[in-house]
Amino acid sequence: MLKAIDTQSGRHVISIDPVWETGAGPLRDLCCKNAIACPECRQPVGLRAGNVRIWHFAHRADSNCPLKSESAAILRAREMLYKLLRTKFGDRVSLEDVIHGAPNSERADCVVYKDAGKIAYCIVEKQLRNRFGYMNVRQKAHTAVQWIVLPQLLQKNPDDPEQFLLSATARDLAAKDGINEMYGGSCIIGSLCCADAERGQFLLARGLECVHKPNVFEPHTYIEVSPEKVILSPKLGQLMVASEVPRYKEWQRAFEIAQAVRREAEARAKEERKRRKAEQKKQLKEAKKQRDRIVAALQARHSINQPDNTNLHESRGKKELTCLHCKSKTRNWVAFIYNAAYPHGTCLCRECHAAGMNFPYEDLSQRL
Ligand SMILES: [Zn+2]
Ligand SMILES: [Zn+2]
Repeated sequence: MLKAIDTQSGRHVISIDPVWETGAGPLRDLCCKNAIACPECRQPVGLRAGNVRIWHFAHRADSNCPLKSESAAILRAREMLYKLLRTKFGDRVSLEDVIHGAPNSERADCVVYKDAGKIAYCIVEKQLRNRFGYMNVRQKAHTAVQWIVLPQLLQKNPDDPEQFLLSATARDLAAKDGINEMYGGSCIIGSLCCADAERGQFLLARGLECVHKPNVFEPHTYIEVSPEKVILSPKLGQLMVASEVPRYKEWQRAFEIAQAVRREAEARAKEERKRRKAEQKKQLKEAKKQRDRIVAALQARHSINQPDNTNLHESRGKKELTCLHCKSKTRNWVAFIYNAAYPHGTCLCRECHAAGMNFPYEDLSQRL
């Protein structure tokens, strides 16, 4: 690890901090006094400040801290990434921080703290292991996650140097973000960003497309760029190069327009649904009113046609008639008609009346 804690001041100490440029002596002394501890297990750590490997803090041999075993390759890639981010984001960059919501308190290699959220940069050496949960961390913690792979995950195809052989891990990590989308394509899985610390370059494989199942991929564009020439997208911190910026801006504009069109269409559809619902409600109300009017007219007609029948709901003593609707013969009716159309008479039985049936209004108007 590159970051430890000064147990006296409680402050972080970074082994690759330029303050140690004059020599490792003071930091080594602190470590010898057991004054520097691992931020995870709080055990004192030693300093490894040789000429070959990146200066870093190391646990005692018998430790079983999760931060204990880190390869030289990952430390170098982390240093390269940290230095790049420092030049762009300054003090907002932190090393080896735990992101809230990350699985098993796994630490991101670098974290950029912005006003609107965080960007976690996670370097992957071989497999995802427990970093898989980082896939879902974004929604949980307002964190954008940028994956950086090491060169062994972006291996060139020995038969065709334009192509790459991608493991399942590399395929899982391919980013389907806006920068990748600019490169279009039919069966594109995404782009990969690789930190090649040995050559001091970042490798960007955009728009990776499967040319031979399952693992042979060809990028639409392959870029090798030195850290000084890397540009970071302001919102999500994606690594890109100057030549991509105009295209990216264009894509972003098109994307924003498409979003606005979609939002507008959604709003219109919502408005239309609301209007239709109100219309239906109005029609229903109108139909109800009409029905009430007809029922009232029918009842009024009956009291004229049948002055001796004061109780419409009393079936005893009524003449047996055939119901206009269900054709059943019944005395249990609520209204009846005798006219030219129904010389034998017809009725509206109680069941049909209860079911909302009515006499046709025209039949009655003929009678008037
Ligand atoms: Zn530890
Ligand atoms: Zn009936």
